[in-house]
Amino acid sequence: MSAGLTFLAVHAHPDDEASSTGGLFRLLADQGVRTVLVTCTNGEFGDAPGGIKPDADGHDADEVATLRALELDAAVNVLGVRRLVRLGYRDSGMMGWPQNDDPRSFWTAPVADAASRLAEVLREEQPQVIMTYNEHGFYGHPDHIQAHRITMAALSMLDYEPTVYFNAIPDSVMKVYRERWEQEDRERRAADEAKGVVREPEPEVDEDVEMGTPDDRIDAAIDVSTVSDAKFDALAAHHSQIADSFWMKMGREQFNQVMRVEWFVRATNPLGLEGCVEDIFAGYR
Ligand SMILES: [Zn+2]
Repeated sequence: MSAGLTFLAVHAHPDDEASSTGGLFRLLADQGVRTVLVTCTNGEFGDAPGGIKPDADGHDADEVATLRALELDAAVNVLGVRRLVRLGYRDSGMMGWPQNDDPRSFWTAPVADAASRLAEVLREEQPQVIMTYNEHGFYGHPDHIQAHRITMAALSMLDYEPTVYFNAIPDSVMKVYRERWEQEDRERRAADEAKGVVREPEPEVDEDVEMGTPDDRIDAAIDVSTVSDAKFDALAAHHSQIADSFWMKMGREQFNQVMRVEWFVRATNPLGLEGCVEDIFAGYR
């Protein structure tokens, strides 16, 4: 029974909905659950086509936003998202970038203002289950931190308490990812060296942010193996950002083998759920 069930996710950039909840979105849509995606920023400071970085010549922030809006439309279509709400804030760039201070940036938006805009959507939709990021924005990106802050602030503006989940990666899985990233990094550097290319180091994500969650503290493990094709297609729709990613390099077959589960921790628990659930609507059906 899925009648009357609504799921809402608050994501920072176009493509986050696919990478952390692509399987869940498609799975819920197939179950007849109403799904709503709130995307906070336009993603101006993602790569421009051809992997052009935001500080490089040829990167036009507004063009990137226009392209990413189209890519998001395509991904939303693949995932069966019923309603897409774009809050339209400007991407704040990575922590420490000058873009953080742009008065149009999501990072500088007063939390209360953005939260009331989100609360309006929440009141219209009345989702039983909401997903966003933890207080570290999962990996320390200012827009992800701000998505967390506005979501938590919006909750206090509601007259009911939904179940809120933060996305998570178990430590055991994070270890495998790290090894893969380090391997890619070594390969890239070796290739650069062979070609005599000297590259500016990539901005580091905050080393203090622990991205993994102890395996025994995962509260929801959703098997998305039956919809991993859709998740792959939704990621692929974000071509300008993802074409060069480790997901696409895996290829569809390996992706379907590896990306079988999406994990979450509970941030609010009005139903008093215990242990790790396999259904994000556990307690509501
Ligand atoms: Zn993001």
